[in-house]
Amino acid sequence: MRYSKLFGKTTKDAPHDADSANARLLTQGGFINQVTAGVYTYLPLGLRVLAKIKAIVRDEMDKLGAQEVLMPTLHPKQLYDATQRWEKIDVMFKLEGAGGKEYALSSTAEEVITPLVKAYAHSYRDFPVALYQIQDKFRNEPRAKSGLLRGREFSMKDLYSFHLTEADFLDFYEKAKAAYLAVYRRCGLDAIVAAASGGVFTEKNSHEFQVATPAGEDKIYIDRKTGEAMNKEIVPEADQENEEKYEIMKSIEVGNIFPLECRFSNAFDLKVPGPDGKLVDILMGCYGIGPSRVMGSIVEVHHDDRGMIWPKSVAPHHVHLVTLTGKDEEANGRIQESATSLVDELEDAGTEVLWDDREGVSAGEKFADADLIGIPLRLVISTKSLAEGSVEWKERYEQDARLVKLENVAEQIHEWLEAPERLTSH
Ligand code: ATP
Ligand code: MG
Repeated sequence: MRYSKLFGKTTKDAPHDADSANARLLTQGGFINQVTAGVYTYLPLGLRVLAKIKAIVRDEMDKLGAQEVLMPTLHPKQLYDATQRWEKIDVMFKLEGAGGKEYALSSTAEEVITPLVKAYAHSYRDFPVALYQIQDKFRNEPRAKSGLLRGREFSMKDLYSFHLTEADFLDFYEKAKAAYLAVYRRCGLDAIVAAASGGVFTEKNSHEFQVATPAGEDKIYIDRKTGEAMNKEIVPEADQENEEKYEIMKSIEVGNIFPLECRFSNAFDLKVPGPDGKLVDILMGCYGIGPSRVMGSIVEVHHDDRGMIWPKSVAPHHVHLVTLTGKDEEANGRIQESATSLVDELEDAGTEVLWDDREGVSAGEKFADADLIGIPLRLVISTKSLAEGSVEWKERYEQDARLVKLENVAEQIHEWLEAPERLTSH
């Protein structure tokens, strides 16, 4: 991709309410554009990151044995009459359609998935069932804030599981927990599993996945003795400031898993005959991850004063190539030629290159843009580097560049892509 052609350039401007690093840097880097509070357009660079995060989520869900579906975002009111949640979900966007028919925009999907499973699973032989979707959700958050962390429209992966027995449910729940941790690890995030109370869904204990960062609006409490993590709601009131007992950290909730028991299956009368012909109750679980919140969290955790620092796994491109041309036409021709053949070679091998081919833009400006955009590897081709038959190689977290012979670059990039992630110099 040539930067000169890329839609959405870097900008010094940030929304006046850019109250967080992710809102500011993603906007300035040309990744997202705010339409209104909590509502964003993803520009080409931002969409590539979001798509990579979704691909990791999808891969882990598929490995878990779940199957992908896509449900509508427009939900008729009568589904919520069955569960008495029309009034209960306070963040639900409600609208009126033709003929006065009432709808909600999807904020979650138990009311759609439960009747769906009932329509297709008729016998104990059809269970367990695990279905997920990756879909935009809508929540009328009283205060949308912190860029992608709390939107009014945002991306969610929601998984629902259906089981005949508690043991089968628990087995799946633990596997889902492991799959979630794999998702965050692959996205360059260290997530902590914290015990939580169940909110709107159930009184039973559930689990949250929390990423510790000062930018977070949640707090996690880690019991210094047992190492057990929990969210604020289940720490006894009297203990909430007890720093001897708990290590207390600000954090972002990047995922949440809940046992639903029979709350929704009973509401829709989803029961099936067991082997003996007697009706069996269906136990459910639900499991959410916010890919857009994950994207914002990655920026919160991995940035410096110059810009973002993307993990290779979700970076919009693997390599940011900068060519530095000048007044000497003949030298410019050689730079152009080396860059074109390097880009072709890399792209043929599947390496994604963003090539800053702009003319009349200073080296300083190009480097500042590369740091802001945060692609993990920067290569520079200039008269100086070509005099050594080389390109300059600098990883985003490093201070200094080194020279790599042109003929070795492709192979070294291949090795670098295979190597473990490194996001800081320490
Ligand atoms: P929170 O407590 O932060 O309001 P929640 O507990 O209501 O979130 P869930 O209903 O469990 O969230 O949704 C599953 C996941 O969707 C969350 O873990 C989070 O990653 C993401 N998510 C929820 N609300 C938002 C939002 N307003 N903007 C972006 N992502 C969100
Ligand atoms: Mg929550």
